[in-house]
Amino acid sequence: MKIAFATSEAFPYAKTGGLGDVAGALPKALAQLGCDVKVFLPKYSSIDNTKFDLSYCWPIGEMPIRVYGKTHNVNVFTANLPGSDVPVYFIDSPEYYNRPEIYTNDEDEDERFILFSKAVLEALQRLKWQPDVINCSDWQTGLIPLYIKDNYSWDRFFDPVATVLTIHNIGYQGRFPQETLYKAEIRPELFYENSPVEIWNSLSFLKTGLMYADMINTVSETYAQEILSSTYGAGLEGVLHYRINDFFGIINGVDYNVWNPESDKHIPYHYTKESLHRKIENKKYLLNAIRMPFYPEKPLIGIISRLVKQKGFDLIQSAFNQLIKLDAQWVILGSGEDQYEDFFRAAAYSHPDRIYTYIGYNNELSHLIEAASDIFLMPSAYEPCGLNQIYSLRYGSVPVVRRTGGLADTVFDWHDLLYNGSEAGTGFSFNDYTPDALNSTLYRAVKTFDDKTTWERIMFNGMSQDFSWEVSAKKYLELYQKAVKKRRG
Ligand code: ADP
Repeated sequence: MKIAFATSEAFPYAKTGGLGDVAGALPKALAQLGCDVKVFLPKYSSIDNTKFDLSYCWPIGEMPIRVYGKTHNVNVFTANLPGSDVPVYFIDSPEYYNRPEIYTNDEDEDERFILFSKAVLEALQRLKWQPDVINCSDWQTGLIPLYIKDNYSWDRFFDPVATVLTIHNIGYQGRFPQETLYKAEIRPELFYENSPVEIWNSLSFLKTGLMYADMINTVSETYAQEILSSTYGAGLEGVLHYRINDFFGIINGVDYNVWNPESDKHIPYHYTKESLHRKIENKKYLLNAIRMPFYPEKPLIGIISRLVKQKGFDLIQSAFNQLIKLDAQWVILGSGEDQYEDFFRAAAYSHPDRIYTYIGYNNELSHLIEAASDIFLMPSAYEPCGLNQIYSLRYGSVPVVRRTGGLADTVFDWHDLLYNGSEAGTGFSFNDYTPDALNSTLYRAVKTFDDKTTWERIMFNGMSQDFSWEVSAKKYLELYQKAVKKRRG
């Protein structure tokens, strides 16, 4: 099967969150199943030609692409995803992608991804490579299914090409004013109240994708259930009900070549579940590096996250006076909303021996925190899949999570299972989105940490879990087959 994977992020080239990890790993897993896969990604200025050995793609050449009446000359570069034969095609339009960040609040944010979506289709035409499926990711590529069925339908080349839209987070919908219809060259008659492209009097790229894609999926089974409700569906639950027969949940996998304490190139001391005692050396190393005292008997609580409300930071803020009474140390890595950045900076300032805060994006530090922490905290309000708790399981950094979305599907509460006679728990979790529930669950974890035998059992259980891509990639393949069947009848 031939798969074109259109994405606005792919590790190691461009990543702000889980989508980057998925797009860097799933295409390789699909290739291992025998698929012919090509990845398409904007060429952000942060992607270094020399570092990644990019070469100019002559078979595509320069493509004139029109957005909002202006023609842009788009070039394409290519390289293989590291460690694989999967080619990545980098869509180069400096006017749009030479910005300090991958995503912006600039007024041409819509144009940046209109251009990308068109460029993916035109690159396919020029390569004369007809995929069976284009897997679109989130709102940034949400127009592709419509383009295939409408704007580019004149080209018989796309007749058999099916589309799948993967929702990595339904909270980001790519909503733009009606004027964007003209920028995107979407027929104005497609825009009316509750039309396939309209929501709340705006044009939504995500809704468009959800309505026009042949199949839809999201990144865990629990999140797939949750977003059918008004609490989690962010206004698009009705659309998902409408598409219910074509809508599935597939849990993300993890690239254990990148995230594995046995071989991680970013951590000084490697360990496995058979050599757990070596993990503490990483904790000593990190605490020394960040100039915090090392107390073997106190748990180190790690957080690595975008600092946004979704991730439960309002809860942490509200519970903070209680949480700080726990006999533990904290290390926080993240960036995002000013209020949370300021909060954690101030917390570190007030408790220099207890709290370390690094505001920013730091891949190496994220690996080190996974290896050094005893507990990993992720109290999300909602979580489509979540990857850090899965990495934490493998690193023996016991996750404490809110039981929602992918967190519910990957972390099993130690005490819940114990009451049912099983010692298979891998972490600690709570249901209610309240400061008290967070505090009492973290308290439970910190107390359990004192009992070394139990704690090592929980670590061992977590480290034995296997969330590799193999299983999930097979499910994607089944989904692609369904999409092809639907498209071709
Ligand atoms: P989301 O996609 O909602 O941000 P996920 O848990 O699915 O959440 O994925 C987050 C990914 O981004 C993980 O690989 C995590 O390590 C990484 N990450 C998040 N914030 C940072 C940061 N400040 N520095 C380095 N990596 C980060």
